[in-house]
Amino acid sequence: MGRYLGSSCKHCRREGMKLMLKGARCETGKCAVERRERHMAPGMHGWRRGRGSDYGVRLREKQKLKRYYGMQDKQFMRYFREAERLKGNTGVNLLQLLECRLDNVVYKLNFAPSRKAARQIVSHGHIYVNGRRVNIPDFAVTVGDKITVKNSDRSRKTIKDQLATNPNYTTQQWLQLNADKPEATMVSMPTRDDIQLVVEEQLVVEFCSR
Ligand code: SF4
Repeated sequence: MGRYLGSSCKHCRREGMKLMLKGARCETGKCAVERRERHMAPGMHGWRRGRGSDYGVRLREKQKLKRYYGMQDKQFMRYFREAERLKGNTGVNLLQLLECRLDNVVYKLNFAPSRKAARQIVSHGHIYVNGRRVNIPDFAVTVGDKITVKNSDRSRKTIKDQLATNPNYTTQQWLQLNADKPEATMVSMPTRDDIQLVVEEQLVVEFCSR
């Protein structure tokens, strides 16, 4: 699958919000969204871009969500179709499906500084789910799944070093973390409130249902 190899900060500037794509740098004054001269949308006419048409507003919400979870259109639409098939609110279903991706769970446990880094940790085989090695970043974690780290000094050190960078980090309610081992269990599905992304999921649904 193709990967976007350009600047991550451009995505934040285009969406006009911090998508937290670069880990620790996002918390510093170097963040492009916070620097006055770079806070507008990228490109020669970035400063001119306004609110846009109804279509444009919906497109931006979809792009925001897609970029936040770091995926391409085709993959995103697969999640949307799956969300439509499930019972309940399609927008919330979509957010839950995305939130339960293994790379996102690893990021939310603070095993990695960003989703990109979490994806690498997973694909390099450092993460086990229910005792089996899983190197697929989009693996869907379900309630009751136990996430552990490969039983090797290097893997454990990598994760423990990352956990030590932010000792006050509080894991989300739907995840139960034992930082000493380190291991975690998914105890419930994330609710809409747990997914702290500022996005209007209904507009995403309207865009994808056209
Ligand atoms: Fe986005 Fe992080 Fe870059 Fe800031 S530093 S613009 S939050 S990726």
